[in-house]
Amino acid sequence: MITCTVEAVLGDITKLSVDAIVNAANSSLLGGGGVDGAIHRAAGPELLAECRRIAEARRDVEGGPCPAGEAVITGAYKLPCRKIIHTVGPVWYGGSRGEPALLASCYRNSIILARDSACHSIAFPNISTGVYGYPKELAVAVAIDAVMETLPKTPSITKLVFVCFDRVNLDLYNEKLGIRN
Ligand code: ADP
Repeated sequence: MITCTVEAVLGDITKLSVDAIVNAANSSLLGGGGVDGAIHRAAGPELLAECRRIAEARRDVEGGPCPAGEAVITGAYKLPCRKIIHTVGPVWYGGSRGEPALLASCYRNSIILARDSACHSIAFPNISTGVYGYPKELAVAVAIDAVMETLPKTPSITKLVFVCFDRVNLDLYNEKLGIRN
């Protein structure tokens, strides 16, 4: 059974006052464009400093410091949320390089990390659907399925938000979540 509110909203994830927001980071953890750049700009330079420390501690991790599908957590500094979970989505190569399983791992591992860090609310961007090129309609199906499979194991998470940056993604999420505008 799922005791968590799951919803999709249109907006900028850096503005949300949830316990944890998820960053679509890259495996260096040292910042990038898209939502990653927006989060680092809004959080301030202390976030990059913490990410550097984590990257240094994980420098021997294969495919790392943070390989696709995995997640790490930091403070949120100037953001209104409490924590930032940095996960690395797969680059889309056409679907035959394990992309769906890696994308599902991003959602699963981020929710589990949020639970283990006493976060009760979590917001996700549409991981991999920007520069990494994952087709939006395929990514939505993976994201919602992964979340619905994981939430029964994490009852302390009571609110999950999919933050869409464009109308196309919002409509896809609402359709799959069964809400029609
Ligand atoms: P990736 O490299 O995982 O594809 P991107 O940051 O390029 O990551 O894109 C991931 C998604 O985040 C895209 O759908 C993009 O439109 C969206 N996005 C970009 N900026 C923001 C923001 N400030 N808040 C929420 N979503 C954002």
